[in-house]
Amino acid sequence: MASKEMYALGSQASVIRDLFAYGQQQAAVVGKENVFDFSIGNPTVPAPACVKEAIEDIMETRESAAIHGYTAAAGDTAVRQGLADFMNQTYDAQVRADNFYMTCGAAASLTISLKALVESPDDEIILIAPFFPEYTVFVQNANAKSVVLPPDTEHFQISLDALEKAITPHTRAVIINSPNNPSGVVYSADTYEKLAALLTRKSQEIGHAIYIISDEPYREIIYDGLPILYVPKFYKDTIICYSYSKSLSLPGERIGYVLVPDCAADAKEVYTAVCGAGRSMGFVCAPHLFQDVVLKCLGQTSDMNIYDENRKLLYNGLKEMGYDCVYPSGAFYLFVKSPEADAKAFSDKAKKLNLLIVPADSFGCPGYVRVSYCVDPDMIKRSFAAFKKLMEQYQ
Ligand code: PLP
Repeated sequence: MASKEMYALGSQASVIRDLFAYGQQQAAVVGKENVFDFSIGNPTVPAPACVKEAIEDIMETRESAAIHGYTAAAGDTAVRQGLADFMNQTYDAQVRADNFYMTCGAAASLTISLKALVESPDDEIILIAPFFPEYTVFVQNANAKSVVLPPDTEHFQISLDALEKAITPHTRAVIINSPNNPSGVVYSADTYEKLAALLTRKSQEIGHAIYIISDEPYREIIYDGLPILYVPKFYKDTIICYSYSKSLSLPGERIGYVLVPDCAADAKEVYTAVCGAGRSMGFVCAPHLFQDVVLKCLGQTSDMNIYDENRKLLYNGLKEMGYDCVYPSGAFYLFVKSPEADAKAFSDKAKKLNLLIVPADSFGCPGYVRVSYCVDPDMIKRSFAAFKKLMEQYQ
């Protein structure tokens, strides 16, 4: 006997993982250089040198227990203080160590935040399409309901009319993600201002705060000199879920944080509930070594120029072939309109050419595919012939 709900989650295949596994199999048949795998968002740019230096320094200078022992459940105080100082210097965030809860990456930050906010099974969490498919799993885990906003396929910002209609007295939070997986779009200051005005008005109308949960694993992967915007400056009732998976290329190390700034409604209560949620799900004491590593690497990132070069190569290359691409301003994904209504059929045709691109149906955005460009630039160049052949089938 096992939980039916968990069994269903464990046995459902993910489209992305399936494509990735197919790519590995095909590589054995046709050769690795003939498979063009754009399926997965696993950073290819190496972690910056500070990561290795920090590990070596920590290993050489500290006692075992000070490296591998438990920290406080919420994370080491010196680490959280360092994060607070950094956020204050960089974004004038006005936060303290006690606003941070260290986690095992953005996935844990999100599950913890949702669990901390949801009070009743009637509570609704608004997801803005296109969105990271795991959000629905995290909302289900918090025993709340997902309400999906249709995508704004013109600009891939937020359709505020649709959002206004979606808000009910049960709305607890809206999850936003900028730079966005899968669209590659970055929300503008104008979007945040309008979103804040709407949520402030609706919160007053329904009589309780509607929180923004800002999922920010791609915060620093931003191009064309666009500024990084600190969301609580626009809307005070914001909880930030951060991760070093992408910014420092450390997805396997599982390190990130939840930040509940004091300006958020009932901040102390919410922060205590975050600690409770972490405790209830076993997410206490995030990996100790990597708490200390990120402290030593504050303000550093992997070399984002490599992603930027890939972005230009892929965007310009596909545009020239006639593909309709959403202009990518951040993250490492290119969002491409399928030349036929059924993006799954399009992805299947691509698969026959060993071109692995993900239909965006599971991201809540049918009719599009996600092309992940955290890949070797040579593979992008080699893939162009296949992309051309694929487009020829529609001309
Ligand atoms: N949120 C988004 C939008 C993501 O793309 C990902 C991972 O790809 C996550 C959350 C999960 O990140 P982590 O690996 O830090 O748990």
